[in-house]
Amino acid sequence: MTSAECRFCLETDTTENLLSPCLCKGSSKYVHNSCLMNWYTAEPTRGIRCNSCLTEYDREGTHSIESLHTPHIFVLIKMNHPLFSILLCHWILILMFNTSRSIIYLTDIKLFYICYQVINQLFIFYELSGLVYYVKNKHMYMKMWLTRDRVMLMFLHSYLLATLPETTWIGGMAAEYVVCLYFHTHYNILETINRNYTFRFLSR
Ligand SMILES: [Zn+2]
Ligand SMILES: [Zn+2]
Repeated sequence: MTSAECRFCLETDTTENLLSPCLCKGSSKYVHNSCLMNWYTAEPTRGIRCNSCLTEYDREGTHSIESLHTPHIFVLIKMNHPLFSILLCHWILILMFNTSRSIIYLTDIKLFYICYQVINQLFIFYELSGLVYYVKNKHMYMKMWLTRDRVMLMFLHSYLLATLPETTWIGGMAAEYVVCLYFHTHYNILETINRNYTFRFLSR
């Protein structure tokens, strides 16, 4: 039984446990399947070929891994600092339209809030559908969305939007917070899909 070194983790192993997935020779010839998989899933967008000899790796099983596209900067702020962004928007709106010094003074701030939330929510859904467009395994993705907790989240969101005329800014802030959770859910689902991938690399 011969042994060789894995080009990624540099551990010596028997050649039975190692792959030679590309045309590289010598110390770069062998690699563990798991090491190659870690390398690939760390950044799936860089492609599925050897950095040195540029050979495309042969695979067995499903291999379309999901790429994690970054959303719009406004959405990133909402996602990572939801309370800050919600309170800031609220404060700016009040200063702009609802103080005695405001250039445009809106007596009907309620109507204004509702219009603002409608535009805001449409923008968010436009962004979210943009991200969903890039999902490769749409069937699996949709199936993972429809779990009890996530359906509850969508019910809560619909309820908040439906009661917006009565609840105005409090309801609007709650609805915005739910939308932040949608984005987190989106990325959680994609990460789960990527983790559960079932393909393996093959030797040449
Ligand atoms: Zn290794
Ligand atoms: Zn190579």
